[in-house]
Amino acid sequence: MKILVADDSKTNIAIISAALEKMGHVVFAASSGEQAIELFQQQSPDLIILDVIMGGIDGFECASRIRKLDNNDWIPIIFLSASVDDISIAKGIDAGGDDYLTKPFSEITLAAKIKAMQRISDMRQKLFDTTRQLYLLSSTDSLTGVYSRLQFDRSFKEIIGTADCYHHALALFFIDLDNFKNINDSFGHHIGDLLLVEVAKRLKSCTRSNDFIARLGGDEFAMILNEIENAEEARYVAQKIINTLDVDYNLESHNIRSACSIGIALYPAHATTQENLILNADIAMYHAKASGRNNYQLFTTELNDKYKQRMNLEHALKFALERKELSLTYQPIFELHTKKLVGLETLLFWDHPQFGIVSPSIFIPLAEEAGLISQIGNWMIRTACQQAAQWSLHKLKDFKFTINISSRQVRHEDFYQQIVDIIADTRINSHLLELELTETVVMNYTNVPILETINKLHNLGIGISIDDFGTGYSSLIRLKNLPINTLKIEKSFIQDAVTSPHVGIIVSYLIALGKNLGMNVIAEGIETKEQLEFLQTKACPQGQGYYLSKPLTTEQMTNFLDDRVNELIRSASQA
Ligand code: C2E
Ligand code: CA
Repeated sequence: MKILVADDSKTNIAIISAALEKMGHVVFAASSGEQAIELFQQQSPDLIILDVIMGGIDGFECASRIRKLDNNDWIPIIFLSASVDDISIAKGIDAGGDDYLTKPFSEITLAAKIKAMQRISDMRQKLFDTTRQLYLLSSTDSLTGVYSRLQFDRSFKEIIGTADCYHHALALFFIDLDNFKNINDSFGHHIGDLLLVEVAKRLKSCTRSNDFIARLGGDEFAMILNEIENAEEARYVAQKIINTLDVDYNLESHNIRSACSIGIALYPAHATTQENLILNADIAMYHAKASGRNNYQLFTTELNDKYKQRMNLEHALKFALERKELSLTYQPIFELHTKKLVGLETLLFWDHPQFGIVSPSIFIPLAEEAGLISQIGNWMIRTACQQAAQWSLHKLKDFKFTINISSRQVRHEDFYQQIVDIIADTRINSHLLELELTETVVMNYTNVPILETINKLHNLGIGISIDDFGTGYSSLIRLKNLPINTLKIEKSFIQDAVTSPHVGIIVSYLIALGKNLGMNVIAEGIETKEQLEFLQTKACPQGQGYYLSKPLTTEQMTNFLDDRVNELIRSASQA
């Protein structure tokens, strides 16, 4: 061991040094407390022996100064003293000492005390090694080998500090895989893990060695580009990452494609603190996801404004139900060649005292994200069904009352039971109901629970229609094998059908396709006489749109129905 001995008596130093050297230790001798502190800093000893009474600072003071300098390393300290009373023992321990040796002492006592201190020292070393190992383990992500979230948090401040010192700019990237959950669900977690490893490798190939990559959890990675010149450089790297990740992965003979979305914030241009930089990269990421995925977004103040607006809306939405700000409208659906009323589509809207009328295409996705969709959806379906019962719609023959259902809503485990309960409570005929689901929900064949729900609803007699048909990718075989009653052709097709021959052909094809599969076909968004006539010549069975009728409030619809329902009931009973 390296042992530091401090005593102002030369004779004592000589005796102790000789004894220690005989035992095989290396001795550094100091003749005062001040010199002992100097030697402590130069030599990093493993043990310190301090005489209590010395000229200049005494042993206690010397020990407490050493304790301030030793970075919690806790190098063992033994005090040397001629007499040891209780008070000095307490004082010595307070000053940071570990043991006492009374003068005069035998070599046997000295050796024994040193042995005890050696044990403390060994334990200290072990603790140090374990802590270091733990630190290393916690600093890397065990799956991919890039840094861990913990290390990201630990290093970020330091990286910002260095950038600040050298006046460098940094770019923080948040990178999120677009369909990782689907891949995990359809191919299993093992393939999901292999994909993450490959993604980490590809990310490394896009960066320089002094850039920092971490996996923050799940399929989320963070990257810090050091010393960037300008925003262009960040854009260049982002595009490179997008191109590199959007190439098929061959994982145990599965060919998998997994693109990513990236949010970027620059230091110091967009934020100067770690917290704000992370928040801004997150905001940029949100917009990357919202603008169709497989793209990157650089933070801007406009994005920030949009984000704040969204947060305000999301907050207000939490109170929309209890403050009775949500209402329903109903758009009539007609048989196109007779103009007979054959159905109603229920639409939700939100009238907020400050924001005005908010479109469901804006607040439904918000409700999904905020976990409010089940509550709002449940209220909406219940209110609509109560209204349908009040209008006695079940008395009409071949009449459909349709309700839009969002993908998260149908994924909710209680969804089926909610519908069953509402039907029972409102005593509405289940054959009257048709649920509108979007193409992507129905065509997602990897999602078994949704398909089970759809089949169970169908078995109850509830119709299923595919909303906005033509905008997704439907497989014909799949369309044929699913219990689908209706295809609703997306309004953008109808609106271009007359002006663009190409779109006209597509619409004719979609109508024929639905009819050949034995389904009902509804054209959405008919706004002009020409569009209606075009659809009539193509024998499209049904349609809706502003030209035929705008969505009507409950009161307007009650008036509208008054005559027609009686008329329809009469014709139904005559048939
Ligand atoms: P969607 O299901 O495609 O509904 C049709 C939308 O087009 C409605 O807008 C309707 O007012 C509008 N529309 C009807 N006829 C015409 C027309 O001739 N021209 C044009 N330009 N538009 C027309 P709205 O009410 O703003 O709803 C937007 C979307 O929000 C709906 O699209 C639907 O996806 C969703 N949504 C509406 N209500 C609900 C609901 O209760 N639950 C869920 N999950 N989603 C809903
Ligand atoms: Ca719809």
